[in-house]
Amino acid sequence: TTPFLSVRDLTVAFGTEDGVVHAVDGLSFDVEKGTTLGIVGESGSGKSVTNLAILGLHDPAYTKIGGEITLDGRELTRASPREMERLRGNKVAMIFQDPLTSLSPYHTVGRQIGETFRKHTGASRREARDRAIEMLRRVGIPHAASRVDDHPHQFSGGMRQRVMIAMALVCDPDLLIADEPTTALDVTVQAQILDLLKELQDQSGTAIIMVTHDLGVVARTAHEVLVMYAGRAIERGAVREVLGTPRHPYTWGLLSSMPKLRSPVDVPLVPVRGTPPSLINVPPGCPFHPRCDYTELAGPGLCRGERPELAPHRGHGDACYLTPAQKRTIFTEQIKDK
Ligand code: SF4
Ligand code: MG
Repeated sequence: TTPFLSVRDLTVAFGTEDGVVHAVDGLSFDVEKGTTLGIVGESGSGKSVTNLAILGLHDPAYTKIGGEITLDGRELTRASPREMERLRGNKVAMIFQDPLTSLSPYHTVGRQIGETFRKHTGASRREARDRAIEMLRRVGIPHAASRVDDHPHQFSGGMRQRVMIAMALVCDPDLLIADEPTTALDVTVQAQILDLLKELQDQSGTAIIMVTHDLGVVARTAHEVLVMYAGRAIERGAVREVLGTPRHPYTWGLLSSMPKLRSPVDVPLVPVRGTPPSLINVPPGCPFHPRCDYTELAGPGLCRGERPELAPHRGHGDACYLTPAQKRTIFTEQIKDK
């Protein structure tokens, strides 16, 4: 069977004054209905760029997109801007870190949620207002029937995030893209919002892509995880496996910078030693080699030679030249309990 969302060999490149930025290079993954894929990596790893490609939000004048993105049988990279416009908000919805970028300060939340609904369903104003109230209830906003006429600034940060979720889900999208949706919120509210998303997913079977730099968020929400580095997937698999027995030195770095594996979501990632590579001159071989502690062990010629590929099969995979035995030993003896 075909996966619900399938991304194959995606490349996204931008022309800039300094040269071509290879923001995403040969990325493949699937997301099934009712499941959450966590995409994790530092900023500049290609997470957001990947999602903008799925949403059709890149400006074709500056961006070259290659590969295939198939959603429910439809190929999206060749869809017209009009088709993508129809898809967004309807089949595919998104929520971002800052609700104020998607909510207008000038209109009531009821009007904004209702307009999205009307645009895609042709419902009447009256029906749209009722639907807005229903959605505000579903996302747990108290006194929804009276709050529907409030403006975004009259809500707290966490409540605004709920309003944005209500707007994103008003047309029952099949795919929800959440880009660092709780980063700006305090721990308790963050946990509430993540739990709310899970609950709504259980009710509706929405597929979710959860973009985050925080493995705690992944642990709490995702079924599968994709670790990205320099525009590529370097490790992928079921959350339990990738967080339980991670294989790639970069993933070890991400994990080590968390105090405890099963800590609540309040732990921001400390960046891994060194800086992310330039996406104009991506290091040859393994793009992680300038920051890796294990090149001597794996064989420096190997690490700086050909680029290691993520094994093309499903399941737990990683792109590193260390042997499986080396990976196991290093993780259990040096990383796990640190
Ligand atoms: Fe490190 Fe080499 Fe593995 Fe890359 S391939 S992560 S440089 S050991
Ligand atoms: Mg981003």
